[in-house]
Amino acid sequence: MICIGIEGTAHSIGVGIVENINLKCNVLSNIIKIYRPKTGGIHPREAANHHASNIANLIRESAEKAQVEFANVDLVSFSKGPGLGPCLRTAATAARALSLSLNKPIIGVNHCVAHLEIGRGTLEDCKDPVMLYTSGANTQVIAFAEGKYRVFGETLDIGIGNCLDKFGRNIGLEFPSGPKIEEQAMKGKKYLELPYSIKGMDIAFSGLLTAADQYYKKGEKLEDVCYSIQETTFAALTEITERAMAHTEKNEVLLGGGVASNKRLRNMVQTMARDRDAHFFAPSKDLCIDNGAMIAWLGFLMYNSGIRMRIEDSFIDQRFRTDMVDVIWRD
Ligand code: AMP
Ligand code: MG
Repeated sequence: MICIGIEGTAHSIGVGIVENINLKCNVLSNIIKIYRPKTGGIHPREAANHHASNIANLIRESAEKAQVEFANVDLVSFSKGPGLGPCLRTAATAARALSLSLNKPIIGVNHCVAHLEIGRGTLEDCKDPVMLYTSGANTQVIAFAEGKYRVFGETLDIGIGNCLDKFGRNIGLEFPSGPKIEEQAMKGKKYLELPYSIKGMDIAFSGLLTAADQYYKKGEKLEDVCYSIQETTFAALTEITERAMAHTEKNEVLLGGGVASNKRLRNMVQTMARDRDAHFFAPSKDLCIDNGAMIAWLGFLMYNSGIRMRIEDSFIDQRFRTDMVDVIWRD
């Protein structure tokens, strides 16, 4: 099957085309365009306008890049949620129009589950991982148990990416600030004590964000503040991931989400995995960030297992939780 997927939960609009080789995913194209606000955070309506003005070209480009004729596309899939309403609606509208014009089935998928499945689909030997999903708005530790992807731990306030971006915004770094904080952190040497908030397998970041802002205002070096933010938040994320691995007795760990591009986070989780004789997996960067290929791939898995969606039921759901999906395509 050849599937086209449209991702549009937040700042990115992406179109990807994949084909299955048995139950493994072959990515034929995966094009992403990111909305970057000039000042402040993401304005949902402006992000949606950005997506609307780019989507038609992205669909065309991704078919060209994949060297796929539209007549040969078997399925259209889109990100049903969770995400920002106006952005989700734009992506879903494009998917409906495409499905109707090609006369091909449509399927709406859960964005967080897509992050996990693209890891299993593209990485050799990644079969039953605990996933640390670290993106802008979402931060979750997810693993399969009894027919669902269960959330074993998650942020109680803001996502780790939002935490990094907000710190960056407060001190005048450009959006997205994660990569800039990573650059600064590499130069940092002095560790500044920051609040380390874990409850069971849940985590919180806003207290740390306030404390980091205060250190910077008091004149601590930016590189040291960035270094301390990374060391503290990433250690906490690694700890809740390890706890979920111990609890579920799984011996694979998978990273996903934009923050998973960070070398220090990868390194910490990899070290933890090595210490417990577990396998470490991280998809390539373009499959870690929000992208259409992962949406296409989850669409395939669902369709292939017999799940169908009528176009009149192809709603979006801003609060579509990871554990609301019946995962019938694996055991
Ligand atoms: P996503 O929502 O999954 O597309 O991820 C976007 C988030 O990833 C933003 O908050 C970025 O600041 C963050 N990000 C991207 N690259 C890095 C990096 N190298 N280190 C830390 N955060 C990053
Ligand atoms: Mg994401």
